[in-house]
Amino acid sequence: LFVDAPLSEGVAVALTRDQTHYLASVMRAELGEMVLLFNGTDGEWAARIAALPKAGAALVPERQTRPQAPEPDLWLLAAPLKKDRTDLVVEKAAELGVSLLMPVFTRRTNAGRVNTDRLRAHLIEAAEQCERLSVPQLSEPCPLDKVLADWPTDRILLFLDEGGSGIPLAHVLNGMPGEKLALLVGPEGGFDAEERRLIGSKSFARAVGLGPRILRAETAAIAALAVVQALTGD
Ligand code: SAM
Repeated sequence: LFVDAPLSEGVAVALTRDQTHYLASVMRAELGEMVLLFNGTDGEWAARIAALPKAGAALVPERQTRPQAPEPDLWLLAAPLKKDRTDLVVEKAAELGVSLLMPVFTRRTNAGRVNTDRLRAHLIEAAEQCERLSVPQLSEPCPLDKVLADWPTDRILLFLDEGGSGIPLAHVLNGMPGEKLALLVGPEGGFDAEERRLIGSKSFARAVGLGPRILRAETAAIAALAVVQALTGD
């Protein structure tokens, strides 16, 4: 379970109401049982259930079971999609090693307000399920032109371009081992001509392709993440 608190031997941590419910009612855990906890910085700890009230179970870490390992440094910039499709992308991004997820608004983005609390809860749940030692960061939603204007100098932006202007993602990755990467996926309606021109004008952007078919945005995001993970092994 993810806890937003320091983890050290003998220092009790309290679970949230939902986590307590999950532990008691779903996992039917009992007092004295051990639970694995992580917080993104102190590695993974085996903690004993010291109190199991209706809310706010108390767990006492006893020993570190995994040291904090360096996590992959991979960003995913994605236009928000319809709710269930965005949830799918968020969950798979956590499983496939994304370190930062950035909702990017483009002209054809047709999703409403992004519920960052809900997305963050999905990221935590996915990180717990795949036994990561960190939860991907979720940045505030940002319009595409501002993202490009504030782009960091040390990171390559791989622009997933269904327009066929991109060379295969795997070739681009093979040509840049060790670079800090970000993937950019468009909305269901794709990028418009002005956005393509703007992205193409940036020296840090590389157009990349995922084959000759038009993939759904969520398919493109997951496929691209899988290619990066397969080639980097992270
Ligand atoms: N322009 C598309 C069309 O004509 O239907 C709509 C965009 S597509 C459904 C959603 C996004 O997935 C695109 O903006 C792009 O980022 C990505 N994508 C889809 N197919 C791709 C491909 N073959 N190669 C690279 N990116 C792709």
